[in-house]
Amino acid sequence: MRALIYAGVGQPKLQERPKPIILESTDAIVKMVNTTICGTDLHILKGDVPTCKLGTILGHEGVAIVDQVGDNVKNFKPGDKVIVACITSCRTCNFCRRGMPSHCIEGGWILGNTIDGTQAEYTRIPHADGSLHHSAKNTNEEISMLLSDAIPTGYECGVLQGKVQVGSTVAIIGSGPVGLTALVTCKLHSPAQVIMVDLSQSRLHSARANFGATHTIISGPDTVKQVMDLTDGRGADVVIEAVGLPKSFELCQDLVAAGGTIANLGVHGRKADLHLEKLWDRNITITTRVVDGLSTPMLIQLVDSGQINFGGLVTHRFAFDSILEAYSTSTEAEANNCLKTVIQF
Ligand SMILES: [Zn+2]
Ligand SMILES: [Zn+2]
Repeated sequence: MRALIYAGVGQPKLQERPKPIILESTDAIVKMVNTTICGTDLHILKGDVPTCKLGTILGHEGVAIVDQVGDNVKNFKPGDKVIVACITSCRTCNFCRRGMPSHCIEGGWILGNTIDGTQAEYTRIPHADGSLHHSAKNTNEEISMLLSDAIPTGYECGVLQGKVQVGSTVAIIGSGPVGLTALVTCKLHSPAQVIMVDLSQSRLHSARANFGATHTIISGPDTVKQVMDLTDGRGADVVIEAVGLPKSFELCQDLVAAGGTIANLGVHGRKADLHLEKLWDRNITITTRVVDGLSTPMLIQLVDSGQINFGGLVTHRFAFDSILEAYSTSTEAEANNCLKTVIQF
């Protein structure tokens, strides 16, 4: 089968690989319908993720058809259309039972990291019962794919950790795919204002026109002043960091209101300063989290019933044979006006 592997820093490579086989009775083999390239894949290609060894098939998102199941898979059978969760869950270890499959002893984020992932014609899914979802009937495959990672990450790591409430003022730093899923899902909690901050005019335009931001700010020297002007000098109750750079995490500290929360969802590869000398008396909370996917069944229902809408998030489509072109496009995402790519098999 054809697969996209990590062949070294800056080197995604197409390769012929054997079709995976069932190794454990709880495994499923799935035939991919589509997949995508995530910011996390780009981090691997920068050499930021040492757990991902050379030769690993990348990818942790996608929609698939179940091809085979092991004897102990109960909830899925060949032919089922499924959403692959980016987090593998055994459902029985200490972390899974505490609601943190992201840290599952035999799972967590392993697909396209420590084991072969979804950027291939077939993928082996360990602990299939805890790691696949049946795809919903009314939702197309492109939008279903966003439920692997992007939508639950924005909701769990941004909106839930940030404790967005009715009437909150929310500032989201970064208007990329996950910043936008945080924007759409925070509206479930009826915030009064959602202010998007980004360097890209086109991304901000999209945030306002397609995804319901109430205000947009081009990131620059007077970002803090503009947010303060919009919030009567108080700052934002919830500040969501969706970039993953020291500068943007430090900006969050200047924007958070007394009593507010900074919810980090960016992937950080470098240290960032924490200004406790300014924050020690501000009653704030800082949260970090990797998506667990506990909200995914609920989000699948909300998407399927049309209560939340992600039309416009997929901007580019490629056939699998053109996946290297998709990588180039995603690497220069802003220049290409690219949010999320879909790669079709
Ligand atoms: Zn991802
Ligand atoms: Zn577990």
